[in-house]
Amino acid sequence: MTSMKALVQLMKELEDQLTVCMRCGMCQAVCPLFAETGREADVARGKLALLEGLMQNMLENPKGVYERLNRCLLCGSCEANCPSGVNVLGIFMKARAILTGYIGLSLAKRAILRGMLAHPQIFDRVTEWASKYQGLFTKPVDELLGTSCARIVSPLIADRHFNPLAPVPFHRVRPSLDTNPGSSGIKVAFFVGCLIDKIFPRTGEAVIEVLQHHGVGIFMPERQACCGIPAISSGDTKTFNQLVHHNLKRFDAHEFDYLVTACATCTATIKKVWPLMVQDYPEEVKAKITKIAENTLDISQFLVLNIGLEKVSFATDDNKIAVSYHDPCHLKKSLGVAVEPRALIQANPCYRFKEMSESDSCCGMGGAFNLHNYEISASIGRRKRDNIVASECSVVATGCPACMIQISDMLSQSGDRIKIRHPIEIYEELIIRP
Ligand code: SF4
Ligand code: SF4
Repeated sequence: MTSMKALVQLMKELEDQLTVCMRCGMCQAVCPLFAETGREADVARGKLALLEGLMQNMLENPKGVYERLNRCLLCGSCEANCPSGVNVLGIFMKARAILTGYIGLSLAKRAILRGMLAHPQIFDRVTEWASKYQGLFTKPVDELLGTSCARIVSPLIADRHFNPLAPVPFHRVRPSLDTNPGSSGIKVAFFVGCLIDKIFPRTGEAVIEVLQHHGVGIFMPERQACCGIPAISSGDTKTFNQLVHHNLKRFDAHEFDYLVTACATCTATIKKVWPLMVQDYPEEVKAKITKIAENTLDISQFLVLNIGLEKVSFATDDNKIAVSYHDPCHLKKSLGVAVEPRALIQANPCYRFKEMSESDSCCGMGGAFNLHNYEISASIGRRKRDNIVASECSVVATGCPACMIQISDMLSQSGDRIKIRHPIEIYEELIIRP
């Protein structure tokens, strides 16, 4: 449990922010969860109303409040469209921290977050071991998408088609890197993120390849930790603080101009959640976090704004690959990044870009939301899949590994023959073209 002093401090911060909501209900129109359930309790306005009497509700029914608050994708659609500028995600994160501080973590979450995620070396060992033996419980199901499904009935996996752990994680191939700036005169730190490291190492390779091609110096410290989003979205401030401190030590040791990631969720977490949740840190640590957050960029944003994309025009045949793009919520709604990933894709003349309908609607993943509410998550995901299929693309690109997992699941289950790529991989193809 969190100390009473820390809880009261968080409660005070929350009270100040809650007064901004004027109950207009405009968040209803954009909430993907409300579109599924039609329940006022699921939309931002309903949750904010619940939080107004948090102290009272917490004493009467803490688990009930916690469950209601957790029925949320943390997609930020409400915040991005709120006319009053309510910091909805900040409020929800703080409220989850208060509730978890009061009722404690479940045993399963304690084991995963505090026993594993908080210790990068243990996390690496466990996932490498799981990668070796995953074939005993799972089997490949779609070669094009690289998905697997459960071999035997499993309540955890259920009907999911998922991207398995990579045979060799990114950090084994590239444990660390420290190169000087080349022609660009710029040096970046590369924050890899758990999903790219353990499931999509190819994306990490593409980042390195492209940065080197553009003469960008790279600092990539070994033993990077998770950005902390699974911990803080479960209200586990202890693990979150541990992870932030671990990463600060790794990255602070070096001078770099920008910190880049190829994961929309990592970028949004470092840029927006780190500064938000560290109010009681010592001033010098807060200053370091502010500096890192200000200089954190999505890889597409970094390349477009600071480097300039490769301009090539070579003859291509008529069989250009039709590609569409899904806007990850953490990139478009949280950070306003939408033009740059499209620019990366469109830079490659072998592709023909086709915008899909509702490209910025949530894919339904929502991290732990998918684990606890798979039916609703999949229903939102199927709408996304239908829009992808309707665009008649043969490749769909997106800049968030979590979205890649959710979209893979939906396409694999329906048997649609559409590949998923990260925009940096499409851009990399241009660079390594023979
Ligand atoms: S969160 Fe924003 S959009 Fe939703 S009811 Fe409050 S003021 Fe209106
Ligand atoms: S974050 Fe997304 S799912 Fe949660 S209340 Fe806001 S719009 Fe709805």
